[in-house]
Amino acid sequence: MPDFSLSAEQESLRDMARKFARTEMAPHAAECDKAARFPDEIYRKAYELGLMNLNVPTEYGGSGLGVLEQCLIVEELAHACGGMTTSVIANCLALEPIILGGTPEQKERFLTPFCAQYHFASFCLTEPAGGSDAGSLKTRARKDGDHYLLDGEKCFITNAPHASLYTVFATVDPDLRYKGITAFVVPRETEGLTTGKDEEKMGHRASSTSTVRFEGVRVPVVDRLGGEGDGFSIAMRTLDQTRTPIGALATGIAQAALDHAAAYSLKRHSFGKPISEHQAIQIKLANMAQSIHAARLLTWHAAWTIDHGSKGTLESSIAKCFASDAALHVADEAIQTFGGYGYMKEYPVEKLLRDAKLTQIYEGANEIQRTVIARELLRQYA
Ligand SMILES: Cc1cc2nc3c(=O)[nH]c(=O)nc-3n(C[C@H](O)[C@H](O)[C@H](O)COP(=O)(O)OP(=O)(O)OC[C@H]3O[C@@H](n4cnc5c(N)ncnc54)[C@H](O)[C@@H]3O)c2cc1C
Repeated sequence: MPDFSLSAEQESLRDMARKFARTEMAPHAAECDKAARFPDEIYRKAYELGLMNLNVPTEYGGSGLGVLEQCLIVEELAHACGGMTTSVIANCLALEPIILGGTPEQKERFLTPFCAQYHFASFCLTEPAGGSDAGSLKTRARKDGDHYLLDGEKCFITNAPHASLYTVFATVDPDLRYKGITAFVVPRETEGLTTGKDEEKMGHRASSTSTVRFEGVRVPVVDRLGGEGDGFSIAMRTLDQTRTPIGALATGIAQAALDHAAAYSLKRHSFGKPISEHQAIQIKLANMAQSIHAARLLTWHAAWTIDHGSKGTLESSIAKCFASDAALHVADEAIQTFGGYGYMKEYPVEKLLRDAKLTQIYEGANEIQRTVIARELLRQYA
């Protein structure tokens, strides 16, 4: 039998994240959502508690946590606010290419000073012409002596306006498709790098998202991660690591939706009794609980698989895809349980639906997850 119990250390990490989420994040979630405010003071506290650079090895100043520990933390944060969680964990996505593709010298040079202070980093893969087809990047990297010149534009980049470091994917030759993609680390102050206006988003409004433009940006060859053409593999291996915590983020949103719906159902009366006593509402709550339980177990299993040395491509795609679909459905059912009040911004559940939606789109849209799952599955039958 698998052992589903958590160690004392894992329990205490989860408790710490829960306390931070409920006392520091939750009270400000509605206000930040309404004003689309990036709550710098909350993110700074998250950094001070070690919640921002979760995946960076301790030797470089990070928290050095496994994927399961990251998931335990992310679910708790997302229960309070999906948008804040997206911004808090974006460093994990942005720094993973350095962890996976950097030399010891590059890790020391980039990660150690970065983690020593409160900083944001951004992962720059998606472009205006398309995100799913990562092999067709248009951002060019032209070799110029001991430098590369980067030209192009990235879009939908989390935390870009606040970042001090960018991991950037560009092509040395678009005709090579995947084989031309190359990864670079670019500090904010590099001339020719500019960020666009903060996007006005449907959800995750406490997070910040913008374009990043590169116009003749000179990057030393020593800041390239791996060799020319290694970038696609670095990007895909990065997403294999970071996709599972998105399953946890979705699970946290779904759990919040169920918590609100169940509590409301005990207080709201119709036909002379609490709506929790109507079987239609009980079935709703039961179905929500089943989806959340399954999402959490799939997420834990994917995390466990990766922590035990597997790539976990299949498991993480299943977890992210299932949990995000579940979160959207559970949030929808929570609104239905609230009736008309659920549709009002005065109550917390409509935000959960807007926040849940993004989890189906970013870090690989669910259509792409399903093509990955089918590809991995069919391999077993070939
Ligand atoms: C708020 C937010 C934050 C983000 N943060 C980042 C970030 O920090 N860094 C970053 O690089 N990107 C980021 N993204 C981008 C995100 O990863 C992409 O939006 C996503 O990968 C989809 O790409 P796209 O938007 O270009 O859609 P497209 O690739 O244009 O796809 C459009 C639709 O077609 C479907 N589709 C495409 N190809 C196929 C196919 N072969 N089979 C079936 N269906 C297909 C897609 O699933 C989707 O439904 C963010 C996006 C958002 C909205």
